[in-house]
Amino acid sequence: MSVADLLAVLFPQFALLHVELVRLAGGAVRVHARSRAPGAPCPGCGGWSERVHSGYERRICDSAVGDQELVLQLRVRRFFCDDAECGRRTFAEQVPGLTFRYGRCTMGLRKVREAVALALGGRVGAARTPPGRRAGRRR
Ligand SMILES: [Zn+2]
Repeated sequence: MSVADLLAVLFPQFALLHVELVRLAGGAVRVHARSRAPGAPCPGCGGWSERVHSGYERRICDSAVGDQELVLQLRVRRFFCDDAECGRRTFAEQVPGLTFRYGRCTMGLRKVREAVALALGGRVGAARTPPGRRAGRRR
């Protein structure tokens, strides 16, 4: 098994990403990456766009690697939606199966947190989520 194959087995959530750098910093494994897709579908109308408006970096927590926190530092593009009937002028790309709108964690970590919250009646799962990030308290 090659190193690339091993990484694909250990980190399937990164299959749609181009990983640019992995480093240890601040007690966490930081993975700097961007999407491999040339564009993204508009969440409003579903139309495909490759016309880039701007970009920014998101910090997204993922499940731990060994005993170390894993932070995905994802370079995200904002695209124009060119459909005149769509209510959105721009939108941010999401990585299918990995990120979601306003998400500060990966879909995989969210599933783990939800399972913990359901198994323990919600109190322990809620305690693991920072106070400003609980459902219904978004700004
Ligand atoms: Zn649209």
